[in-house]
Amino acid sequence: MFLDRMRRITRTIGFRLTAWYSTVFILSSLCLFVLTYFFLNATYRTQNQASINAQMLKLISLYQAGGTALVEQENRVEKKFAQEDRFFIRIADRLNATLFLDIPYQWADFDIKRLENTDPSSTEEWFRLPASGGGPNYLEIARVRLPDGNWLQIGKSAEEQVKLLQRFRKTFMTIAIPFVLFGLIGGAAFSFRALRPIRHLIHTVQSIDLDTMTTRVPSPHSNDELDELVRLFNEMLSRIEALILAMRGSLDHVAHDLRTPMTRLRGIAEMALRRETCDPDILREALSDCVEESEKVLTLLNTLMDISEAETGAMVLRKRTFSLNELLERIMELYEVIAEEKGIEVSVAAPGGLMLTADQTRLGQALANLLDNALKYTLEGGEIHIEAGIEDEEMVIGITDTGIGIPEENLTKIWDRLYRGDESRSQKGLGLGLSLVKAIVEAHKGRIQVESQPGKGSCFRIFLPVQS
Ligand code: ADP
Repeated sequence: MFLDRMRRITRTIGFRLTAWYSTVFILSSLCLFVLTYFFLNATYRTQNQASINAQMLKLISLYQAGGTALVEQENRVEKKFAQEDRFFIRIADRLNATLFLDIPYQWADFDIKRLENTDPSSTEEWFRLPASGGGPNYLEIARVRLPDGNWLQIGKSAEEQVKLLQRFRKTFMTIAIPFVLFGLIGGAAFSFRALRPIRHLIHTVQSIDLDTMTTRVPSPHSNDELDELVRLFNEMLSRIEALILAMRGSLDHVAHDLRTPMTRLRGIAEMALRRETCDPDILREALSDCVEESEKVLTLLNTLMDISEAETGAMVLRKRTFSLNELLERIMELYEVIAEEKGIEVSVAAPGGLMLTADQTRLGQALANLLDNALKYTLEGGEIHIEAGIEDEEMVIGITDTGIGIPEENLTKIWDRLYRGDESRSQKGLGLGLSLVKAIVEAHKGRIQVESQPGKGSCFRIFLPVQS
């Protein structure tokens, strides 16, 4: 159980990020320490060696001027006046026997005898004499052969350097643990914070079911990639929600509206079957009623599908640039006979050469629906006026009739699927025409407006971007 939990934690991005952060942090601190340590050590040593070299040059010239006696005399003077920067000095003969030796009393724990046992013929210029009791301290000694064959050895204790480095190591050790802890906690806090939008995302995805499609991931407002991811994810959720709602709506409407024609269809078929006589005319009539009803069902289903597709952005628009004047002419031709039958005068006013980029078939369908409605809801002897033109870089197509009009309280409802005005029940229709018109226009990134006065007439205006 515990192991399982640990394994799960170690597999999280948060844990891995923390581990990486902390490792990089600890390693770079360690590198910094090692570099500083060696730099300090080298600087100290170079400084020591420089002062030994200077002293050596001085003593060589003294030795050349007056031999060991002058060196001894000068050393005595120095001992009196110089408080700091004392040197270990030894002059040895060719066989390494000591001729002169001066070692400051603080450095007495160095076993000077060992120097006499070293090989005099060694070519080493620098060597170290460790403290006799062990420990890190040592004497840094330089030696040089004097012109008469004797040896001059000058040295300095590295005590200060050793102490400083010891202090440096100790300080590092004391701050290392809080540093590592700081690295770990800091890394964990950073990755925890940075991954908060991802956790929200996971939480939201886990909580989503069909009833809670409204849930959204809170935005981190950080203007970074995670912010973008959250925004895109929320947008995707909104689209899915709209799709599901549209699907539900369509299903409800379909179920509701299919019931009537299907029941009628079944009734007609049952009635025909129950008849005792097999009069072919009666049966043919029943069959043609069945075809008519099933035609209604099919139209209803197709229109509902078209509306859903257009509303959800799934409708494929085959856009091309065409002449609006020609399209209007064709639609007029289609409805010419009906208009004549009803004694309705239809007029068109549009400047020539109106070009539009859109799905011609779909737009034709929308305009035909509007004209169909105008003809349906205009009484005999009425008038319909179609006008088109460009206003503020938009193509505006208006269809005005002198029909029955729409009461103000219904003006928002007419766009709903399957809505039919009370006054229009006498006319054929499914209540889907305007829903489809609106869906098609909006799929073209356009809009539709209606103005109407009951008893006087209605005016539907479509606004479309010229290059939609
Ligand atoms: P349908 O015409 O099949 O009933 P629509 O969706 O085309 O369905 O129209 C919805 C309703 O809007 C109609 O039932 C009618 O009440 C009203 N309507 C639409 N166009 C007009 C119009 N030109 N004049 C008056 N009423 C209209």
